[in-house]
Amino acid sequence: MSIHVSNVTKLYGEQKALNEVSFKVNSGEVIGFLGPNGAGKSTMMKIITGYIPQSSGTVEVCGIDVREDSLAVRKKVGYLPEHNPLYTDMYVREYLAFVAGVHGASKSKVDEMIEKTGLTPESHKRIGELSKGYRQRVGLAQAMIHDPEVLILDEPTTGLDPNQLVDIRKLIREIGKEKTVMLSTHIMQEVEAVCDRVIIINKGEIATDKKTTEMQGSEGTVILNVEFDEPVSASALKKIAGVKRVQHVEGGHYLIEASEARDVRSDVFKFAVDHGRFILQSHQEKAKLEDIFRSITGQK
Ligand code: ADP
Ligand code: MG
Repeated sequence: MSIHVSNVTKLYGEQKALNEVSFKVNSGEVIGFLGPNGAGKSTMMKIITGYIPQSSGTVEVCGIDVREDSLAVRKKVGYLPEHNPLYTDMYVREYLAFVAGVHGASKSKVDEMIEKTGLTPESHKRIGELSKGYRQRVGLAQAMIHDPEVLILDEPTTGLDPNQLVDIRKLIREIGKEKTVMLSTHIMQEVEAVCDRVIIINKGEIATDKKTTEMQGSEGTVILNVEFDEPVSASALKKIAGVKRVQHVEGGHYLIEASEARDVRSDVFKFAVDHGRFILQSHQEKAKLEDIFRSITGQK
């Protein structure tokens, strides 16, 4: 087991950013930690890497309790923070040599990482002169320089252009062959492209934890996108046979996740009539990963 999070709650003053979160990551897995902005992704990652303490619950990385021995954990973990703070005045090679020194890693690691992350043509430049894509490569190189078992990457592709995105995803897939990787993102396609498993977090709680293939093969799941003239009771909608989940989008607009085997459309129509509501529009689609994410998080 690489990461074991158990009943972790995090309070920032009054605000609960994480609520009793539990999950496990096996070694060698590439996990997508998916959720909308403010879901608690960065908070969870900072706790796993030992940068901030949880309010309650336990986190173990490679069997080491993060609160008991955060230094030992940092040796096992490479971390690319969300707003990758790099020293923009330093040269790429100089910066990586500096990071290697901090970790007590050998100088040869610098060349190895430059090569591995495709930084060779840019390695003589100042970090401040690099494009965002190359800066992310520097961030990945610094995260891996001490050869950690586990990599925690907080939104590694945010802000990259489409070409850079493809390159960095490819690089992460390569890295994932050797290491346990947990990456956060708010982009569903990223998970499909890179991850073995997806954990969806919403409002500080785990909403789903499944293999990517299981999610994609949510065979027999449909999403009924329905708009009533006014809000209805979501819990009453959920009682309709075959309905798995109901997400309120806004006003009278709902996403209903249902089993394909039992066509719920006529029941939803009957529901509207029984409750004196009109259906303004409704359409049903076979659920794709993207739809399931929306139905779980209420994203439009
Ligand atoms: P994500 O990375 O999924 O966007 P975060 O973990 O950054 O989410 O934030 C989760 C929640 O905690 C948000 O509501 C955010 O405003 C709040 N939060 C994050 N950091 C702090 C902090 N240092 N102080 C107070 N609230 C915070
Ligand atoms: Mg974040």
